[in-house]
Amino acid sequence: MHFHHPTTLADATQAVAEGATPLAGGTDLMVEVNFRHRRPEHVVGLRKVEELGAWEGNRIGAGVTWRRLEHGGPQALAEAARTVGSPQIRNAGTIGGNVVTASPAGDGLPFLVAVDAKVEVMSAEGGRLVPWDVFFVGVKKTTLAADELVTAIHLPESLPERQAFGKVGVRSAMVIATVGCVVTRTDDGKTTVGLGSVGPTPLRASRAEEMISSVTRPTESDLAEFQKMVSDEARPITDHRSTEEYRRHAVGVLARRLLERCLR
Ligand SMILES: Cc1cc2nc3c(=O)[nH]c(=O)nc-3n(C[C@H](O)[C@H](O)[C@H](O)COP(=O)(O)OP(=O)(O)OC[C@H]3O[C@@H](n4cnc5c(N)ncnc54)[C@H](O)[C@@H]3O)c2cc1C
Repeated sequence: MHFHHPTTLADATQAVAEGATPLAGGTDLMVEVNFRHRRPEHVVGLRKVEELGAWEGNRIGAGVTWRRLEHGGPQALAEAARTVGSPQIRNAGTIGGNVVTASPAGDGLPFLVAVDAKVEVMSAEGGRLVPWDVFFVGVKKTTLAADELVTAIHLPESLPERQAFGKVGVRSAMVIATVGCVVTRTDDGKTTVGLGSVGPTPLRASRAEEMISSVTRPTESDLAEFQKMVSDEARPITDHRSTEEYRRHAVGVLARRLLERCLR
């Protein structure tokens, strides 16, 4: 196995153009290597590339770790970061790796979809900004080209005043989400709902968002309707972690609880 360890983005993108597999924290990639699902011949380590660790305002470098996000990220992303794996995983794992792995259970993804984040990608030829709903196309599938790196995540200039993240799993720590959710709400009521683990890609519950955004002070029946709409918009499957029915139920309950937190 050849291992490159560039210190500049230009050298990193050149290595990727020559067929090297990017390695950030390695917390997803090395699991695949250990299980012999992947056998990369060329690997480019990204940790020494300073540009990837840069975090300025609403542009978060792909190499920013969960550890950093836990302490300085926007509220719901920081809440998500605190639930990722263990301290060791959070010290190594990055937001960029989470996005490129594109697991439906990736804890960073519900926030990114709830705020309409864009993914900044770059190759030796140049860069582009990709909206999340163009980037994620299936289970662990993205539109990132083989010669491209994810260089940063762009959040909107202004983020909703209220945000909440939650996930349901088989225990309360060190767990992959059975369902995940972020609810955001602005002071004037505009509400967004990002869902994880209930579809092949992260999803928005747009009909539920539209309904609840039009209500200034939601009543018990509005909340019940919101919960039902979120459940209806989810597209879960039954797999080794849970059943379709449980996920559909749980995501509605979770979204409602997060909305109630935003309304307090
Ligand atoms: C014990 C354990 C617990 C975990 N718990 C959670 C959890 O609770 N929640 C959760 O969401 N995830 C969890 N994970 C998964 C993992 O930690 C995260 O997805 C993490 O964010 C991956 O980041 P990384 O930097 O380690 O990625 P890596 O493993 O380095 O890379 C992942 C993939 O992305 C590619 N890649 C990395 N960076 C770039 C880039 N900048 N441009 C292009 N391609 C790139 C790699 O080639 C690889 O295909 C867990 C993993 C382990 C081992």
